[in-house]
Amino acid sequence: MIIKTFVLTPFQQNTRVVVCEETKTAICIDPGEATSEIESYLGENGFALQAITLTHGHFDHVGGTADLHKRFPQAEILLHKDDEDFYYGLPEQPLFLGIPRHQLKILGFEYAAPPRLTRNWQDGEIYTVGNLRFKILHCPGHTRGHIVLAEETHKKVFVGDCLFEGSIGRTDLPGGNFEQLMDSINTKILTLGDDFTVYSGHGGETTIAHEKMTNPFLTGVYQMTQGRFI
Ligand SMILES: [Zn+2]
Ligand SMILES: [Zn+2]
Repeated sequence: MIIKTFVLTPFQQNTRVVVCEETKTAICIDPGEATSEIESYLGENGFALQAITLTHGHFDHVGGTADLHKRFPQAEILLHKDDEDFYYGLPEQPLFLGIPRHQLKILGFEYAAPPRLTRNWQDGEIYTVGNLRFKILHCPGHTRGHIVLAEETHKKVFVGDCLFEGSIGRTDLPGGNFEQLMDSINTKILTLGDDFTVYSGHGGETTIAHEKMTNPFLTGVYQMTQGRFI
């Protein structure tokens, strides 16, 4: 299993290409913005892009879908149905998240209408990429349709914006819900096992064990203090 990270967009979003080494089949998880880097990386290594697999519909995670799809029209595109409104509303999304229209172009947030999705993720499905098997887990809370991809043989989970090293995803945006996010993390992600490596949509890699020990939202510190220091 090869994991290549590209840090893109002004939000320092982690776009990832994940490859089955034996079959050279690849997926791109969350192409954040248009770039030739992904095509170059795939081409130089002889990897075939099977799919664009989206964890959720926010623009810093789907903004590069149209560009990548143009370069690889045979790659399927998957997203949970509950985030389709974000996805198909991509050109307007930065505006309702508070970015002024005159800054869209300069920040790289001027989007064309995105390509049609191939199909929706189903909670609990197994998505096969060569010899890799990703379990798709619906984890609402950051958005209504957020999913994570868990590869149980290699013990790696791609969590998008649910969980970060030392923090959790925002719940103040449309469709966000703090209790729901905590429930998703506690029942779907932490239960995968302490030895899972966690690949988040922003920031560094971590493990389930490390987050259970140190993340203030998971240790109980946040619940005790409601974010205050005492
Ligand atoms: Zn997000
Ligand atoms: Zn994000």
